[in-house]
Amino acid sequence: MALANCKTCGRLFNRLHNDNCPVCVKEEDEQFFLVRDYLKENRRAMIVEVSEATEVEISTIIKFIREGRLATIDNPNLNYPCDSCGTAITDGRFCKPCKDRLNRGFSQTKDELMDTARKKQGGDYYYKRERDR
Ligand SMILES: [Zn+2]
Ligand SMILES: [Zn+2]
Repeated sequence: MALANCKTCGRLFNRLHNDNCPVCVKEEDEQFFLVRDYLKENRRAMIVEVSEATEVEISTIIKFIREGRLATIDNPNLNYPCDSCGTAITDGRFCKPCKDRLNRGFSQTKDELMDTARKKQGGDYYYKRERDR
C-alpha cells in the first residue's frame, strides 16, 4: 500500500503506477477519447479548435501529446509552443534546436562530473594501474 495525493484533485488514493486517483484517470481517459475521436474526423484541426470542440483543456491535450498518447503525425496542425523558446512543435517538450542545445548542456555537465569523480578516485594512480594490466 502506498498512499498518495492525486495530482489533479488532491484526493488520497492507493498509488500503484499513476499520479492521479482512479476518478481522475477515468475522467482523463474520457477526455482522451473525445480528443482522439475529434482528431480522427478533423485531421487539420488546431489545438485551440480541438479544445473548443471537445471542451478539453489545451494543457491536457498537450499533455496527451507529450506523453505520446496522441500521435500528431496525422494531424499536422496540432502543435504547441516549445517549453524553452515558444516555437511551434508537435512532440516532446522542446523544439529541435532547443533539444540539441540542452543535450549539449547535459553532456557537458556529465563530463565535468566524471572529471571530478576521476580526481576523487586518485586520478593518475587509477589510470596507471589500468594501463599496466
Ligand atoms: Zn483525482
Ligand atoms: Zn525551442
